Amino acid sequence: MLDTWRTREISVDHRKATERYDGRRVVWVKDVAIGGGDAVVIAGPCSVESREQVNSTATAVGRAGAVLLRGGAFKPRTSPHDFQGLGLEGLRLLRDAGDAAGLPVVTEIMSEDDVAAGCEFADMIQVGARNMQNFALLKKLAKTRHPILLKRGASATVKEWLSAADYLLHGGNENVVLCERGIKTFDQSLRNTLDLAGVALAKEMTDLPIIVDPSHATGKRSLIAATARAAIAVGADGVIVEVHPHPETALSDGPQSLTFEGFEEMMDGLCRPLRSIAQGREVRAAA
Ligand code: PEP
Ligand code: MN
Repeated sequence: MLDTWRTREISVDHRKATERYDGRRVVWVKDVAIGGGDAVVIAGPCSVESREQVNSTATAVGRAGAVLLRGGAFKPRTSPHDFQGLGLEGLRLLRDAGDAAGLPVVTEIMSEDDVAAGCEFADMIQVGARNMQNFALLKKLAKTRHPILLKRGASATVKEWLSAADYLLHGGNENVVLCERGIKTFDQSLRNTLDLAGVALAKEMTDLPIIVDPSHATGKRSLIAATARAAIAVGADGVIVEVHPHPETALSDGPQSLTFEGFEEMMDGLCRPLRSIAQGREVRAAA
């Protein structure tokens, strides 16, 4: 059933995610509002590797305008032979780096067993693409009321993504932010295919904030700035990107990690069109 020309499909499967709110749903992560109108930028390393690495990254991204620090301690790697993350020690390092830079922190939790530690050390918990339908994890996180960043599964439809959000909402946790991070398609040119139309569609279907992860969507450093701009243009409430002091030596996702300089350039590029439009309007209004 379509209730307007917009796609506000009322389905029992995702009734909580698609119900109408009076205004926007804003998710607060400490003093940061996601979905409040201003686009937010979340940045940091794919994996926390060392104190020095995460501290320097936190300082650099905070200076350039990021409002949240990301960093993985429990890493969902395709191969068991790849770096699995520093675990609890990584959480501590991330927390310290966030505190020193004045940034709230977000990190992924993969197991129900780590929910308590995640809530203790992080201000927001990421449910990764591979765990979007880990229902036991979602049910446990629903009880915490902790802000959740729910990534879209690489092979999940928009409806399945919203139904996964309903596990959190229905279970009592209203603090849900959705994240599009690319899906699997026939085209192997990039790591994934960024579904920007899916973001616009989800924006019509739900009032939950939605952000975009251009790093995992493309897998390619040179495309991050352009796809981040596109994400904001399509109506996303923000972006989450990977940044590393030396991407060539990163223990995970180096090819898609921005250098500090690259991150600053991305931030400039995000602001530029908005600034030029605003200036143009002022000039025309004054004429
Ligand atoms: C990540 O954020 O580093 C990550 C593994 O993300 P995703 O779950 O989207 O692959
Ligand atoms: Mn990564």
